[in-house]
Formats: sequence, C-alpha cells, structure tokens
Amino acid sequence: MEEDLEKAIASSRHHGKAKVSFHVATINKPQEEYKILVDNANKPFDHVFLERSEDGLRFIHPLEKLSVMDFVDNNNLIEKKPVKPLPLEETPFKIVEEVKDLKELAATLQSVEEFAVDLEHNQYRSFQGLTCLMQISTRTEDYIVDTFKLWDHIGPYLRELFKDPKKKKVMHGADRDIIWLQRDFGIYVCNLFDTGQASRVLKLERKSLEFLLKHYCGVAANKEYQNADWRIRPLPDVMTRYAREDTHYLLYIYDVMQIDLHIMAKENEQSDSPLIEVYKRSYDVCMQLYEKELLTGDSYLHVHGVQTGNLNAVQLAIIAGLCEWRDQIARADDESTGYVLPNKTLIDIAKDMPINVGQLRRLLKSKHPYIERNFDAVISVIRRAMQNAAAFEPVVQSLKDWRPGTFEKTIKPMIEKPGTEFTAYLKKQSSDVGVLPSKRKFDSDYKLQAKEVVKVSKSKPDNVIVLDDDDDTDEQGWERGDASNRALEMPSKGSLSMTQVPKTSSTEIVVIEDDDESENDSKSREDEDMIRRSEKHRRFMSLKRGFLNI
Ligand code: AMP
Ligand code: ZN
Ligand code: MN
Repeated sequence: MEEDLEKAIASSRHHGKAKVSFHVATINKPQEEYKILVDNANKPFDHVFLERSEDGLRFIHPLEKLSVMDFVDNNNLIEKKPVKPLPLEETPFKIVEEVKDLKELAATLQSVEEFAVDLEHNQYRSFQGLTCLMQISTRTEDYIVDTFKLWDHIGPYLRELFKDPKKKKVMHGADRDIIWLQRDFGIYVCNLFDTGQASRVLKLERKSLEFLLKHYCGVAANKEYQNADWRIRPLPDVMTRYAREDTHYLLYIYDVMQIDLHIMAKENEQSDSPLIEVYKRSYDVCMQLYEKELLTGDSYLHVHGVQTGNLNAVQLAIIAGLCEWRDQIARADDESTGYVLPNKTLIDIAKDMPINVGQLRRLLKSKHPYIERNFDAVISVIRRAMQNAAAFEPVVQSLKDWRPGTFEKTIKPMIEKPGTEFTAYLKKQSSDVGVLPSKRKFDSDYKLQAKEVVKVSKSKPDNVIVLDDDDDTDEQGWERGDASNRALEMPSKGSLSMTQVPKTSSTEIVVIEDDDESENDSKSREDEDMIRRSEKHRRFMSLKRGFLNI
C-alpha cells in the first residue's frame, strides 16, 4: 500500500520539471475519512473566535490591542549568538497524531520562548482549501502535526500559544499560512517574525526559503515536494524530510537575520530601524483576515481570460451560467471549482457553444469526472444561458470601453521598467459590472475588475511601498503544471513576457486608495501604529503582475 502511494506521488508529469504529482486521485478524501466539517455556504466567514467591534461590523484581531514595539527585542542583540541547529538526523522528531501527543506538544511550546511554524496545504480537492500538515520546530525538536487526525483539537490546544504576544512565532512567507490557521483552526497569530519579510528588508538577492537555507545554513533543500499532494497518508519518508526542513532551520535563520537587521543602517533619518520594519511588516501579515470566496453576480468576470477574451454576450452568458453550476457543486461536494470545471475548459466550452452532448464531448480533451457525470445538466445550463444572452450585452459593452483604457497607457509602461518606483492610486467607480468592494483582501487574490480606473503616478521616494524584484517568495512563481490544478486558476504569467520584465522578477504594484491622508506628515509612533491598525487610512493591496491580465 505504502509503496503504491510512493509510486503515485513520484509519477512524473508530462511537462514542467516537477516529478512529484500534485494530485493523487486514489487518496480518499480526508474530509470524509476524518469527518472534517467545513462550511462552504455562500456566506461570509464568521471569525467566531474574534471579538467584534461595537457596531458589530468588524472583527477585532487580538493584535489590535498590542503594539508592534511589544515584539521588538532590542536587548544586547549584538552579544546574542545565533544558535546553530542540530543536524536533522540528530534532532528528536515526532509525528503528532494523537491527542495525548498534541497535549505534550502544547506543554513543550508553553515552556519555550519561540518556535518555528509552517503548514502544508491542499487546494485542489476542497472548496476553501485544507491544511494537511503543521510543522513546528523548537530549538531542539521537530514536530509534524497530522492536522487531519487532530482537526478539532488543534485550536483548543494551540490557539493560546499562537496568540501569546510573549512567544515569538517564526515563519517564512506566512501570508497564506496566517489565513489557513484562521480558517481551519480559529488560530490568530501575534508576535510573528516573518523571515520572508526580513529577507526583503535585508534586500537579499532572493527571498525564497530555498535561498535562505543555502545562504545561511549551506543546506540544499529539495523544493520538489512543495507542490506535492500533501493529503497523502502515511506520509512518505521523503515528504516527511521535506516538511521538517521547512521549519528545522528557521529559528537559526531568525537569529542571524535579527542580528543582521540590528546592524543594518536605517534607510534614512525618518524611517524605522530595519528590525522594526520587519516587525511592522510581520504585524501586517498577521492582521489579514480570512475571507471566504463568495459567488456574486459578477464572479464570472474574475475568471482568468474573461475580460480579455473578446467574448460576446452569448459566451459571457454561458460562462456566468457554468460558473454558477460549478460553484454549487464545488461547495456541496467540497471540491475546488477548478476540479469541477477548470477555467480553461470553461472558456473553451463558452467559446465553442456546444448545444448537445455530442458536441460537448468532442470538445473535451482530458478527463473531467464532473462534466462526464453531468453532461445533460451542463448542456441545459448552456442552453438556458443562450436564451438569456441579451442581458449580457451591456457587459460586453463595458468590457470594450474599459479594456483599452488607462491600464495600457499607465501601468503597463511602468512595469516595463523594473525598479521604477511609483504608487498607483485606485479610484472607485461604480458601475453595474464591476465595483471595487470598499474593502479587499491584502493578498494576492486581488484582480482588476471591469470599470476600475487605475491612475498611476510617480511618488516621492520616501513614500514608496512598491517592491520590485520580488522574485521567489513562495506565493509567486508557482509552476504551471497540469491545467486542472487549482493554483493554476490564477491568471497566467505567460502574458507577462510582453512586458520584458525578466521572468524571475516580479514587480508589485501597490495600489492605495486615495483618501487624502498624507503619508509624509510627521506622526508619533502611536499614531503610526493606529494608522496601521485602522486600515481605514492606509488600505493598500498588491497587484501581482500576473493578476493584471496584460
Ligand atoms: P510552503 O510554505 O512552501 O511550505 O507551501 C505551503 C503550501 O503552499 C504547499 O503545501 C502547497 O499547497 C502550496 N504551494 C507552495 N508552493 C507551491 C507551488 N509551487 N505550486 C502549488 N502550490 C504550492
Ligand atoms: Zn509555508
Ligand atoms: Mn512548507
């Protein structure tokens, strides 16, 4: 049995250099096997473990009652010597899969000052995504928590430890981990040192963990398994090793980085010390709140390729109809929408407009279990959509109006020059097609919507938040493998070659809602912290290049 799984995960893919399969179809769904309950209802996520603001409209993150400065350790950093980790082979290791082991782990974590964390995750075979493993390393031990087996116990045992402001959590590129911890375990992180953020502040040539391991520890990590199907059980030895490596060295890297940051000069007189800057950024990472993906009347416009596909009203109607169809199934069966019906297939169908099962069958090039089981339903969705096409004429029009607009003229030339510093101001404009929600996630989910007017202007040098050459933090540069991988539902990177930005570098465009708040006013630290917290004044989001549909 185990051998079969080993073979299955090692099965090679037809393209891409990865030899590890991101999807092992024979795995029983852990949601069923371990009775993991998820709420996929088309309703906003309820952060039940958070207090709400007085008006009840906002969740309050525990960090809001704390200050970044609480986390900055300034005491004799110079004298502190980095603590080298033992070799992996000599480090005690435990797979935590029983409640009593989890209890022990919690007791251990209670007794330490800091620990390193990482998660492995699967987003292809569940609607919202599923945390598959939680790796934790202390100064002396490595643990891998089998999150499936202990699903309901993880929150109760670990929540307070993650929230404890006196306990340092070290993570690398934690944006997504932070969100997954909230979603799956009701865990909210306080006091984070994000080594990904630190590598940006230290201006290291690369920001990936792989690089840090090489640079600081001389370890050549095998990143092949990053995109493996982490639902697999029992965990093969190679994957166990990979998972351990993701946290094993982090506390040491943190030690060295902390010292490097401490001796690094300030950018200028007014700016924060580099160490403080890392804690501010890490604070912002933690402040992000998970939001469930909701299906709305214009969700179909966010499917990659729809806005630029030159589609007519019938085709748009089919896309809208199929989006609704796949969304319902995906929620009910706890599958990703990309598994039920991949975006590319969705658009291919719409472009082809098949009106009977034969035509539809001929169009499908690979296996699509859900479509094959529902041929008639899909055809009736298409037929109904075709009758409803007139309603989509205005959408066609507004897409036409929008596409050749400001984007090509303003943002695109700017990203053609890597390193150009600028700020993009986003003006809201209401329309029945795409209105920018007043509050958006800060993460990579941001997509340009129809009818958004984006203005870009050069900003004063000290006002720049744009990061360039953000080459290889984990949330970027994901390999594009099998077309059905949900990670691949994100807009294609291929289109970027047009911009002549080197493939390995990506320019982040930071969009700030223009609300008359000058960032240059001298402010006290408290004020600044307040502003950070309140989101209201300083709402920014990063437009990853790939999301711009160039
Ligand atoms: P990491 O933080 O590198 O351990 O990644 C955590 C999770 O993110 C992995 O378990 C994957 O689910 C996902 N992930 C990371 N890198 C990739 C990638 N290149 N392609 C697809 N998924 C990825
Ligand atoms: Zn991670
Ligand atoms: Mn990992």
